[in-house]
Order: sequence, then structure tokens, then C-alpha cells
Amino acid sequence: MSRVPASLNIDRIVSVAKVLSTLSLSRADVFDTRFFPPRDADTESVYNYFLAMVAIDHRTHLGNYVFSRKINGEVFTGSDLLWRLGMEVFNRDKSFFSPIRLSMLDPLTVRDWLVGDYGPVWDYGVRAYLLRDVGAKVVRHYGTTLRLFDVNDADELLNRLSIMIAYEDPVRKKAYLLMKFLVARGLLKIRQGDIKLPIDNHLTRIAYRLGIVRLEDWVVELIRQGVHVDRDLDIRLRLLVRDAWDAVVRVGKLDPIALDDFLWRLGRTTCIVDKPRCEQCPLRSVCQAYSRGFFINEHVHYLTYYY
Ligand code: SF4
Repeated sequence: MSRVPASLNIDRIVSVAKVLSTLSLSRADVFDTRFFPPRDADTESVYNYFLAMVAIDHRTHLGNYVFSRKINGEVFTGSDLLWRLGMEVFNRDKSFFSPIRLSMLDPLTVRDWLVGDYGPVWDYGVRAYLLRDVGAKVVRHYGTTLRLFDVNDADELLNRLSIMIAYEDPVRKKAYLLMKFLVARGLLKIRQGDIKLPIDNHLTRIAYRLGIVRLEDWVVELIRQGVHVDRDLDIRLRLLVRDAWDAVVRVGKLDPIALDDFLWRLGRTTCIVDKPRCEQCPLRSVCQAYSRGFFINEHVHYLTYYY
């Protein structure tokens, strides 16, 4: 892998960590039954569900196509709708997510399942492919998810997951997201220090704007012009963003799960693409973009199932 055209800004990391440590960050509810199995669901079904749903938890919209739909009077958008649709199936037939069923999943089933107002999610065939691969690999190598998740530490789990195409991302976005859910539900014993943040568009955009990652000028220009970056540059940049948030967690002695929940909400509601709502942002006193009045988005890398 070539040189990284960016670096960590330690001063910014320290000041951002200090502000975050005053915010009393709290974890989201991982037992919200609109999206996740109930507390009394059996462990194997819960493992199956999270392994499958995280495997397909990547970008749901492309261009102007927004993945959105009203269900029982409530509008769900993006990954919220994805997980809501997941629970519709889980409530009807939780064995849908068993590895053996996934390994034989018909792409047309996924097309008819993941439907928003404008039709099926844009890459339903890719999602079917990822689910089939997850199911087949669990069946072949472990038999059940109970055995898959019987690990001693985070590295062992990361290694096991990396044989699955959905989890092959070198930045491990989906693997860390899965780890976060299972730890928060008390289904995985991992040292908190081994949990890293799952780096997606929101966490990348916020890191660039806060200035905890310092980008070289030509990368800023690529972003400003909306140029699509290749897989290699995307990975190098996201790895650095992950290091930056990891440093924030350590300096601020923060709970990585609560921090990820906070940043995800911030990215969806406040530090949004193009027009951030800085007046309502608790980080504006330490935000480089706010102080300079120059706001970039995340780098553009649409065609991926990594995040
Ligand atoms: S101050 Fe504005 S640009 Fe900075 S993190 Fe907050 S919303 Fe984003």
C-alpha cells in the first residue's frame, strides 16, 4: 500500500477528546425491538441476525435515490429502514437468518424483501451474494454461529470474520460494527481497549471537518471537486481516520461504543453533507471547519460494500 496523503493532528485530537469527555456520552438502545431482536430471544438466533444484518449494512442510497419507507405510521430511512425490514422478517421467521438458509438465499427474495418507496435497494443482488457467502462460510468452517463467536479475543474474531466477503474490508468497518452490537448486548466478551470504531462516511466527514486528520491539499481538492477515489486511497484514508478516533478514545478515556453512537447520530442529524448545522453542534468550539468557515465532505467512494 502506498504512502498516506494525510496525518494525525495530535493537538486537535486532544482538544476534541477533552470536549467529548465532558458530554456524558451514552450508548444507543440495542434492544429497541423496531430494529433488533428482543432481550429474551435465543442467543443463536440473535447471533445469526446480527451476523447477517451487519453483513449487508452498507450504503443504501445512490445519487438522488433515497432508501426510505413508512412502516406502521413511522418513516424509516437508510440503515434504519434496512434494520426495520430485518426485524419484519425476524418476527415472522427467525430461521430466515440461519446460516444454512442464507447459503441458499435467492437474490429475488432479497429484491422482494429490501424495498423502499422507489423500489428495491439499489444493489440487492450484491447483498444476496454477501449473505449467501456468510451462510456458506459459517456452515463450512464452524457449523453454527454459536461456535463462530466462541472466541478468546478480538483478533481471533476479526480473523474468523475476514474469510467472509462481507467482512473482508481491511478497515474492518462491518467487523467492528458487529463487535459493538454483540458486546453491547452482552453476547461477546472483548476487552474495551480492543474495540475500534466502525469507520463509515459520517465518521470520516466529521474527522475531516474537526481537523483530527490533516489532509494534504491535493486530497482536499479531490474531495472539493467530488472526484471518486480508488479503493486503495479509500482504505488508506479510512485507516487513518480510524487511528484518529482511536486516539480520541484513549486521550478522552471514552467508551468507544457510546462515542460511535454519538458520532453516527451527529453525522445523520447535524454534521450532514454540504450544509452542517453547526449552531446546534456541541463540538463547534473545537471544530477546524467551523473556525475557518470551510466545510468539506468525506471523500467520494460509492461503489463498495465495505461501508
Ligand atoms: S461544528 Fe459544524 S462542521 Fe464542525 S463537527 Fe459540528 S456540525 Fe460538523
